[in-house]
Amino acid sequence: MSEQNIPYKIYLHEHEMPKQWYNMRADMKHKPAPLLNPGTLKPMTEEELSGVFCTELAKQELDDSTPYIDIPEEILKFYKMYRPSPLVRAYCLEEKLQTPAKIYYKFEGNNTSGSHKLNSAIAQAYYAKQQGLKGVTTETGAGQWGTALSMACSYFDLDCRVYMVKVSYEQKPFRREVMRTYGASVTPSPSETTEVGRRILAEHPGTTGSLGCAISEAVEAAVGTEGYRYVLGSVLNQVLLHQSVIGLETKAAMDKYEITPDIIIGCAGGGSNLGGLISPFMGEKLRGERDYRFIAVEPASCPSFTRGKFAYDFCDTGKVCPLAKMYTLGSGFIPSANHAGGLRYHGMSSVLSQLYADGMMEARAVEQTAVFDAAEQFARVEGILPAPESSHAIRAAIDEALKCRETGEEKTILFGLTGTGYFDMVAYEKYHNGEMADYIPTDEELKPGFASLPGIE
Ligand SMILES: *Cc1c(COP(=O)(O)O)cnc(C)c1O
Repeated sequence: MSEQNIPYKIYLHEHEMPKQWYNMRADMKHKPAPLLNPGTLKPMTEEELSGVFCTELAKQELDDSTPYIDIPEEILKFYKMYRPSPLVRAYCLEEKLQTPAKIYYKFEGNNTSGSHKLNSAIAQAYYAKQQGLKGVTTETGAGQWGTALSMACSYFDLDCRVYMVKVSYEQKPFRREVMRTYGASVTPSPSETTEVGRRILAEHPGTTGSLGCAISEAVEAAVGTEGYRYVLGSVLNQVLLHQSVIGLETKAAMDKYEITPDIIIGCAGGGSNLGGLISPFMGEKLRGERDYRFIAVEPASCPSFTRGKFAYDFCDTGKVCPLAKMYTLGSGFIPSANHAGGLRYHGMSSVLSQLYADGMMEARAVEQTAVFDAAEQFARVEGILPAPESSHAIRAAIDEALKCRETGEEKTILFGLTGTGYFDMVAYEKYHNGEMADYIPTDEELKPGFASLPGIE
């Protein structure tokens, strides 16, 4: 296909949208390690998981053999409200960079939650409703997941209780109000409303909270309330499954124009957008049909892949969740103030961790100011104000495109633009005022986190 024929935006028609999710685990020779019961250290059974999660989601969590799972009709309907998301050819960025590389991005910020998280939120709310539950509890860091879940819950008329990391609760009052607009109740975490919250407050008075801590509170609230279950917006296998819709749409759109990416890039917090974006491409690589380079981009201040250990760890600070084998900095690791709140988690999806351990993908860590340099450069030519999280992927995509300028290679680069940054203007302000610091933990500073690992290989 000749260049001129590729439009700026490649959309799919409604009838071309994926009707099934793709489960990458089915094609993995080395399956991700199972979640372990923190008491018995035995793999979590469906029954045990069903005490915390909705039953259907517990099934999806454990299913590592079914490659395609039908997307229920009601979820398809909801998807049609804001999907397909555009796949954009970044012609303007290419021109600005004077690169022979061809750059594409899949933009997931075109909904009120402002990120890809709605793709899994609506699925999780749907299964909760199907099961006849009254409501769900969750945690939110920067607020995108809480917002997505409140939208999904209001659609299905479910109660939604959000534990929001205190620092974000205070810094992002508007996020909180969006959630309340959709009927959710929002509690700053750590709080006095749970046992684990009270314990953490006693141990660390004045703490501004962390995702791991908010997870513990949300799990405790779910398990202790009749008719409630806990839902999580990243890390879990089920979330990667739902997010496969991103990659499937991307692949369908690219196939229409016979475009094949050489390099696929995504930011990695818990791994859900990256896992979703790469899934059909990784499937081809796993089946030996085609090769791609995959790059996970994480903040240098929270470097789970690039400096973490591949070991079993607690998913939360309060150690109430199952243990997962993953690249982790230890549940006791408290990242420094970084403006990409969605990338501040100590661990990483077990699926992506296994793929990384097997050499199927690469990872790199980037520093905050370099990320905002990229964000601003992108905003000025592509007309979208990107989320700080997404801008990690932009940074790596620009770096790869600049390499192509050096070598003259016409590589095709695809990256995930996970969301918009309208609620991150305090971070942009710091950047513009020259008050943004790059923080890279020393090996010494990583030690306490590693010391908190349970010591199970
Ligand atoms: C939550 C979030 C991320 C990181 O989460 P993953 O599970 O790693 O995808 C990235 N970008 C945005 C905009 C987010 O809201």
